[in-house]
Amino acid sequence: MHSNPFYLFPPLSLTAMPLSLAERDQEVIWHPYTQHKDRLPSIAIVSGKGASLYDEKGRAYLDAISSWWVNIHGHAHPYIAEKIYEQAKKLEHVIFTGFTHEPAVRLAERLLPILPGNFSRIFYSDNGSTAVEVSIKMAIQYWQNQPGTAHAHTRKKILAFRNAYHGDTFGAMSVSDRGIFTMAFRDYLFEVIFIDTPSIDNLDQARSILAAHGEKICCFIYEPLLQGAGGMKIHDPQPLDELIREVQSHGILCIADEVLTGFGRTGKLFAGEYLHSSPDMICLSKGLTGGTMALGVTAASKKIFDAFLSDDKMKTLFHGHSFTANPIACTAALASLDLLDNTDCMQRIRAVEEKNKAMVSRLGSGSSSVRNIRQLGTILAFDIGSGRDGYLNQISARVTEKAIKNGIYLRPLGNTVYLMPPYCITEAELNKLYEFLLELTVTIN
Ligand code: PMP
Repeated sequence: MHSNPFYLFPPLSLTAMPLSLAERDQEVIWHPYTQHKDRLPSIAIVSGKGASLYDEKGRAYLDAISSWWVNIHGHAHPYIAEKIYEQAKKLEHVIFTGFTHEPAVRLAERLLPILPGNFSRIFYSDNGSTAVEVSIKMAIQYWQNQPGTAHAHTRKKILAFRNAYHGDTFGAMSVSDRGIFTMAFRDYLFEVIFIDTPSIDNLDQARSILAAHGEKICCFIYEPLLQGAGGMKIHDPQPLDELIREVQSHGILCIADEVLTGFGRTGKLFAGEYLHSSPDMICLSKGLTGGTMALGVTAASKKIFDAFLSDDKMKTLFHGHSFTANPIACTAALASLDLLDNTDCMQRIRAVEEKNKAMVSRLGSGSSSVRNIRQLGTILAFDIGSGRDGYLNQISARVTEKAIKNGIYLRPLGNTVYLMPPYCITEAELNKLYEFLLELTVTIN
């Protein structure tokens, strides 16, 4: 005999439909960059293929922003998935001090010759922010490791661009512009000298700052050609090249943050390929693994690496993460490089770029609510609406909602609407995005 009185007649609540994934999420998850009060439930994605994502009800969404700019070859790519599976069966992870492994060494060997500049070492970490943290720590300690102590005392300042975004950890926040992302933490960030992104008109400003502070500056960090989270702002290679040359003439170390621009985004494999000057360090993540796994890379020149070689243990770079150089992540990166090496991939990048260029004039001749149309490689962006520019502009949520209804995932940065699709996006899919944007620009205000 069952003692449970509900055995024969369970109460309604126990027979009710199971909660959806989206409902369960609302009980237990704290999402990034999300105000949870009164928000709509998250859409529960169960699978992805090519440029599309599929939710638990079978609805498809075109991923117009490559899942926060990481995905380059399409979702659940079978080639990358197969390589990951094979590696997971062989070696999933191993401590990276004292041990090494094939995927980490092979990835470093493949990256070093293709990076824009002369780099001699690859330091692995977990994401874009940690890649930036590592580069800043390398730069600061580079000066401290110099024979004598003069540099350590004088080269304390860091130079960065206004409107920059380099990540969400404290060092990365410190070198990012002071704005709403960093507001709550402003008293805890270290001091940085900010300059405007370069144009032929403002180089003199930078020159006078360098004349006044140049010998006290340890490093200069910049997102080459494209400030992503700062609103998809583009600057020209020529003044950037000139600025970098000026900066380097003061002995300042240069750090290129190619976390977003790396691996084909700007139409070349790296944004640095548009420049003649080369940095001392370069930060990579996002597209590094094709957007499959979290992995960060900081590449350093021989000059930087050599400054850490010493009999003095205090000259060691004391930085490392538990999952440094995870073999599965390195394997995903190798597989992604295989796909990038394929001429077909560069052709797809070019095809997206050409179509975007044609779209610039269509957008320009459309609604007057469209401003500042800009395009770089696979990225197309514009500002919309009559409200104030910036991240807090409420138009963003309305655009996302409208896009979702049309089976598209878009996440404007405030009133900056942008496309940054995976390179595998088809012509028909791109056309669908363009038609949506053209309609949006006349219906939203
Ligand atoms: N640098 C740049 C230029 C970025 O765009 C980002 C991320 N948007 C980061 C660093 C930080 O990368 P992550 O989100 O992987 O920490």
